[in-house]
Amino acid sequence: MTFIPVAAPVIGARELAYVTDAVRSGWVSSIGPYIERFEKGFAEYLGVSHAIAVSNGTVALHLALHALGIGAGDEVLVPDLTFVATVHAVLQTGATPVFVDVEPDTWCIDPVAVERALTPRTRVIIPVHLYGHPADMTALLNIAERHNLIVLEDAAEAHGAEVHGRRVGSLGRVSTFSFYGNKIITTGEGGMLTTNDAMLAERLRFLKDHGMSPERRYYHSELAFNYRMTNLQAALGLAQLEQIDDFIARKREIFNGYADVLKDVPGLQLNPERAGMKSVYWLISVVLGPECTLSRQDLAQALRVHEIDSRPFFIPMHQLPHLTQYRIVGRESDACPQSEYLSARGLSLPSGCTLDDATVTHVAEKVRQLITK
Ligand SMILES: *Cc1c(COP(=O)(O)O)cnc(C)c1O
Repeated sequence: MTFIPVAAPVIGARELAYVTDAVRSGWVSSIGPYIERFEKGFAEYLGVSHAIAVSNGTVALHLALHALGIGAGDEVLVPDLTFVATVHAVLQTGATPVFVDVEPDTWCIDPVAVERALTPRTRVIIPVHLYGHPADMTALLNIAERHNLIVLEDAAEAHGAEVHGRRVGSLGRVSTFSFYGNKIITTGEGGMLTTNDAMLAERLRFLKDHGMSPERRYYHSELAFNYRMTNLQAALGLAQLEQIDDFIARKREIFNGYADVLKDVPGLQLNPERAGMKSVYWLISVVLGPECTLSRQDLAQALRVHEIDSRPFFIPMHQLPHLTQYRIVGRESDACPQSEYLSARGLSLPSGCTLDDATVTHVAEKVRQLITK
């Protein structure tokens, strides 16, 4: 067998046709029909009124925070276990991140710890739907409502994931997505903001394009950004969006393929799925409990010998050298034991929709042999 990657995109005839059409049309920058079609299609898919395409998921987060007026003196609650982009976007506004522990059965920000983390300076909660599983949005929206906070969903890893039948990215005040090459759908590099707030949507469009007046060309009234997506990227994105239901269904099949082989292995935990929620299994992962004699590093190394790629879980934000000065808050104390546990023991396995059933079974069997031997 040849090298098995963690996540390769599915790029087919439709992608090639749309991108070729976009190139041939000459609309290669950020004006063009694919931008509008991709934004409209994405908004419809989520059931929201507005979708605004941008250059990547990180600037989507930054633009949302900037547009909401978040900056120095404000505290923003983020999960301790996330990709660092969530935190970098907060820091780029001048605001202060607070690292909050995660829940063992969602791997996402813990609402109980969120309550403990609140101060008079708290302005925003950023739930990250980690590895494709929704955060507990019901509890988080309730806290936000009671304390007059903004909920910004970082849905970069969870296009199509659901909470009680509603898609993530449609639940908070504003939400962000990434279309990096390994995400649920890709534009190469790319991002999207979604909201039901018409005024906020207008402000996001204005700020992503150098703050140019919609009425008067080259008239700019404030410092702003070039965070635009290109028509070429949107052509790729539209082709991908038209197949998203197939991708998500395939992800679940792949997860079930792993679960068939691994669900009864002692000490091994697979991605959770809480009742009432639907994961999109962005990265299918195992967490090696204390019963496992094999370490996560040894498992990764042994898989590598068999040409099977894997990824360790993210490192807790509070352990990154440039982020050690920020407050950390858990359910019971000022510590993040769940985040540390998952981070030290979690390993993501090949999860891309390009994998066939035989490959999934092959990888799962290898993991089982290595863990139980
Ligand atoms: C991928 C990702 C981002 C950033 O997206 P980019 O498009 O790579 O900038 C942000 N947050 C999370 C949780 C991600 O996984």
